[in-house]
Amino acid sequence: MIIASNFKTNHNRQSTKEFMDFINGKDYFSEVRIFPPYTALNNYDLRPNIRQGVQNFYPVDSGSITGEIGFSQLEEFEIDSVLIGHSERRHVLGESQKEILKKFDFAKQKECEIVYCVGEPKEVREQGIEAVMSYIWDQFDGIDIDYEDLIVAYEPVWAIGTGLSASQEDIKEVLNMLRVKIKAPLLYGGSVKVANTKEILGIENCDGVLVGTASWDKDDFSKMIEIADNL
Ligand code: PEP
Repeated sequence: MIIASNFKTNHNRQSTKEFMDFINGKDYFSEVRIFPPYTALNNYDLRPNIRQGVQNFYPVDSGSITGEIGFSQLEEFEIDSVLIGHSERRHVLGESQKEILKKFDFAKQKECEIVYCVGEPKEVREQGIEAVMSYIWDQFDGIDIDYEDLIVAYEPVWAIGTGLSASQEDIKEVLNMLRVKIKAPLLYGGSVKVANTKEILGIENCDGVLVGTASWDKDDFSKMIEIADNL
């Protein structure tokens, strides 16, 4: 199982260090990923099943791109896991599929683990499963779904940060359809919390969860990993 925490714009350097040290001090079996903000990246001596990743990057090694972070800055922190295509970047910041693809190809060339996020907005969900899958497959446009270090996260936009997780049936239906073409591990994300982690991890073809809000508390995040360990 893969249990991933997306800090988004939360935690500072000090609280991130406390979080990382706490999680790293535990002897979990599950694969754990933590995506802090850039400003809180640090050099940690992490267990092999725990990795620090980034929520974003600009697809250059270095250059003249004011305000952006390239790969040469990330290598200092031994970053080898990246989030790409998160709904907040697609829908809030207007990142296009073309820009997302550039990041994907760059991270692939860097041999990074890529957590690639897809998911439909509410108005598409209301049109039914065919519209949902058509929308999601479009988000794979140009993406190498056979990349060996790929993890796919299905995160319905309407379930992210809303406290309203998708139903088990909805998650199962989408993951099963993704599984037909995608061999990579499949995560679910969208209002996962301690109380629903077990039932979500029990869904067919669900290989883990990507968690925002409920993962920012280290005790809760730890409980979710323990639930995965005990399955
Ligand atoms: C996310 O940011 O990927 C996410 C799933 O957020 P939340 O858990 O808050 O819905």
